[in-house]
Amino acid sequence: MSKKQVEKSTQNRVVPGDKIAVIEEFLPDETCFEQDGSILSMTTGEVLPDQKKHKITVKPFKQVLQLRRGDVGVGRVVYVKKQIASVDIHRINETSVPLPVNSILHVSEASKRFVRNMYEVTRPGDWLKFKVVRTMKPVYISLIGEGLGVVIAQCNHCGHDLNFYRRNTLKCPNCSLVQNRVTAKSFGKLVTSFKRTSNNETR
Ligand SMILES: [Zn+2]
Repeated sequence: MSKKQVEKSTQNRVVPGDKIAVIEEFLPDETCFEQDGSILSMTTGEVLPDQKKHKITVKPFKQVLQLRRGDVGVGRVVYVKKQIASVDIHRINETSVPLPVNSILHVSEASKRFVRNMYEVTRPGDWLKFKVVRTMKPVYISLIGEGLGVVIAQCNHCGHDLNFYRRNTLKCPNCSLVQNRVTAKSFGKLVTSFKRTSNNETR
């Protein structure tokens, strides 16, 4: 890449509020806005002008999630096998993750007590509170620690929200089925917006 090309590609990278063009040249789309004759970016990304159509857009960069060992987050279980669960990370240190990052929970990191298989720990669709134990991909998470575990779960049988029954045991108020999970102390107390998101995703 020549020096000129490098300069050009750097110029195309913008952050919110950067001036990317003037209104005489281009029409802004939903990624930018007009202010005093200038077009400013609303997002972090690359500017893509279309000279022919006189339109301009900013293609957002994929958000890179910076993880640190010990970070606490909230994720949703995608699938469960005997030894592992696949978990999408939706929240890290109280901040939403724009693009969920996949992680792995191994059965040895599920509980301080001996757990034979992952089906005693969690099920697909559950929401977990976890800590990060490996930050490189694949990301590994753990439920061993104060306040970690399943925070929202639905019935294996009928899909109804489960209620806390006793530690590591949940009960369905609809069909009375009692089920095992590794429950967090805060089971059921997590903000309900997570539940709404999960319902929307599955519909
Ligand atoms: Zn049920």
